[in-house]
Amino acid sequence: MIPGTHILAGFSLGFRHRHALRRLLDQTPPDTGILMLDPQALYSSGVMALALDFDGVLASHGSPVPLPEAVTWMKRCEAVFGGERIFILSNKPTDGRRRWFAENFPAMRFISGVRKKPYPDGLNRTGELAGVPLHSIMMVDDRLLTGCLAALAAGARPCYIRHPYVSFEHRPLAELFFGLLRRMERTLVRAITTP
Ligand SMILES: [Mg+2]
Repeated sequence: MIPGTHILAGFSLGFRHRHALRRLLDQTPPDTGILMLDPQALYSSGVMALALDFDGVLASHGSPVPLPEAVTWMKRCEAVFGGERIFILSNKPTDGRRRWFAENFPAMRFISGVRKKPYPDGLNRTGELAGVPLHSIMMVDDRLLTGCLAALAAGARPCYIRHPYVSFEHRPLAELFFGLLRRMERTLVRAITTP
């Protein structure tokens, strides 16, 4: 595939789902992080499987391992959903991350070999592997126009992590870049949905 195709797809899919993106943005408090998500409450609301983004959601950008508090949260999720219903759906499934999960959460699986988010392919695959309907899968992602949009395109549930983990100490330029990108996404979604 031509590099960056998924970015162009983001614009076209994003336009198609702009009103749903706007609702998601408006309904998400600015301080939303994974620790505000109660696995039991999600399960009670009909969520049967989780697709988790990595960068910004489980750790700061580029980190090879999740933060300790994210590990604790994933253990709570595992107790509710079962590890076999939790998936890592990252556009950067590095070997280091795979190794870490194989050692610490062997039942959780990486989704790979699919077109990158915002294409819905990764969530479709998640549905096949988990054996649950797409509307019962929650995609947890800090990016409106990749993960959250992929969820909308697939008919899954987006959960927008608006307060992602960042570390300017470790990766100042990458964090600056992705911080601007997240802000641009919000500005764009607001701009294309203004009456
Ligand atoms: Mg991310």
